[in-house]
Amino acid sequence: MGSVNASSRPVAQLTSLPRSVQVLVAGGGPVGLAAAVELGRRGVSCLVIEPREEVSHARPRCKTVNVRTMEHLRRWGIADRFRAAAPLPVSWSKDIVFCTSLAGYELSRFTGVLGLALEGDRFPETGQQAPQYVLEELLRDVVTELPGCTLATGLRVTAVEQDPDAVRVTVQDRAGGQARVEAEYLLGCDGPRSAVRDQIGARYVGEHALRPNFGMVFSAPGLWPQVKHGPAVQFWIVNDRTPALMGPMDRNDTWWIITLGVPPELGRRTGMSLIEGAAGVPVDARILSDDPWTARMQLADRLRSGRVFLAGDAAHLNPPFGGHGLNTGIGDAVDLGWKLAAVLQGWGGPQLLASYEAERRPVQDRVIREASENMKTLSTDLTAASLDDDTEAGRQARRAADRRIQQDKAAEFHALDLVLDLCYDSSPLVVPAALHPGARPGARLPHVWLGPGRSVYDSLGPGLTLLVLDAPTGSWEPLVHAASKVGVPLDVLDLRPRDLRPRYGAGLVLVRPDQHVAWCADAPPADPAAIIDRVRGAGPNRFIL
Ligand SMILES: Cc1cc2nc3c(=O)[nH]c(=O)nc-3n(C[C@H](O)[C@H](O)[C@H](O)COP(=O)(O)OP(=O)(O)OC[C@H]3O[C@@H](n4cnc5c(N)ncnc54)[C@H](O)[C@@H]3O)c2cc1C
Repeated sequence: MGSVNASSRPVAQLTSLPRSVQVLVAGGGPVGLAAAVELGRRGVSCLVIEPREEVSHARPRCKTVNVRTMEHLRRWGIADRFRAAAPLPVSWSKDIVFCTSLAGYELSRFTGVLGLALEGDRFPETGQQAPQYVLEELLRDVVTELPGCTLATGLRVTAVEQDPDAVRVTVQDRAGGQARVEAEYLLGCDGPRSAVRDQIGARYVGEHALRPNFGMVFSAPGLWPQVKHGPAVQFWIVNDRTPALMGPMDRNDTWWIITLGVPPELGRRTGMSLIEGAAGVPVDARILSDDPWTARMQLADRLRSGRVFLAGDAAHLNPPFGGHGLNTGIGDAVDLGWKLAAVLQGWGGPQLLASYEAERRPVQDRVIREASENMKTLSTDLTAASLDDDTEAGRQARRAADRRIQQDKAAEFHALDLVLDLCYDSSPLVVPAALHPGARPGARLPHVWLGPGRSVYDSLGPGLTLLVLDAPTGSWEPLVHAASKVGVPLDVLDLRPRDLRPRYGAGLVLVRPDQHVAWCADAPPADPAAIIDRVRGAGPNRFIL
């Protein structure tokens, strides 16, 4: 096997660790790093403990960074840095092609997939295809740049104890040396084999798929000229020899491939033959790395114990089809990040942290269900006799395949409702309201452009923001006063001159730090303190854990 690049950071010394920190994050994968960014930007001190000194390029895994994650990167001011680091620009392709091989017949095509095409006002950032390591490397840099955040590599979390006042975390180096760090909160972002999950006595519940899959990264100069279908972000290969999906990693002849139903030993023995089966022609390829995996549909039986929370793969695992695992984990990190910061800064109420599980568990559950649906029709299920024949039977088989692919796979590649329309409508923090077309309590604030390149999201404050669409001047002052009385940061964004009331369906919209709507109405509330208390988790406590 050839080599793959990796960027590295020096191993941290146990003696250099702080004795105490506000939040300790176990795991510096994408989700732990995202949590540290959300917290660090809010002025919370954070220590990320991560065993891996380097971000490996051997297992690129996530390629689909979705629109919602891009919106968070924009909020953090790093969307452009991420796009600049991504090896393939969005303009490169927005297509997914189903074919009998790279050199064979095209069976079906989807365009504008995976949020890669802008849709008017619906969102300010398209998705971005990029290997997972590109995002991880950027987030490592950003965490390191944030004052108050430390990324300590070469160390792992091995034990957790807590009492009502603090969590004491045992951190171990490779030589077996140990240090104790005290934190106000601990986030278990330590992936599928989470030590933190074990330490709090939580466990995954769910299923494991039986089919083994074998991923590879390979370099194949000279392959592109053989590809009959033009650029695409994914090619789904439908043939008996190598049912697979594959795509370019960059513009320099590096490819990823996932072969379906191939156990690791077979994959390692026949890797070159699998690649040629997918290409449909002899390929001069060099395999750089491999990555066997099986799909899992699992959710931790609880996401919290006292001062300890689980997020990302430590909390949930879904089949990768549709590209939701990492993106869902980033959503967890954002939800938890602003709430922990609010509590640490004194304005979060006693039920704010309990709302993490109430809000995120239904989302995680839905993602697992929809990603499992996506797994029901794969290349292995689409192979058929004559598909590659230049005969009338072949043409008929290809037309039938096209119909089935369009019917069964469209939802997977056009899944913006799952990505953008998630609604925390059963959350104890949101104030239910009659359904308006437009802003809806619990849902992401509908997006609008306020000017060329200027998203409404760019004008939201770091705390709560009150959007004024249509209300008499000053009528919202009691709400502002109620917020300031309990230390809640609240910005007012007066959009009355822009005539956006029809878009939002309300005169006033109160938005949370994560861009979700907390409350909306046509008139100022009769009891503004009750609204503010509800949103900050200090209202009547239906959801105490
Ligand atoms: C083939 C494939 C393709 C995928 N494609 C996509 C996609 O397109 N889009 C998408 O959204 N998702 C995708 N995913 C899922 C995505 O890779 C994961 O959801 C993502 O890596 C989860 O991030 P995480 O930070 O929660 O966990 P991880 O990435 O597993 O990171 C956990 C970190 O914790 C560290 N750690 C482990 N033990 C300890 C310990 N004891 N103490 C401290 N740290 C510890 C690990 O070293 C690691 O860095 C794909 C997955 C697969 C298998």
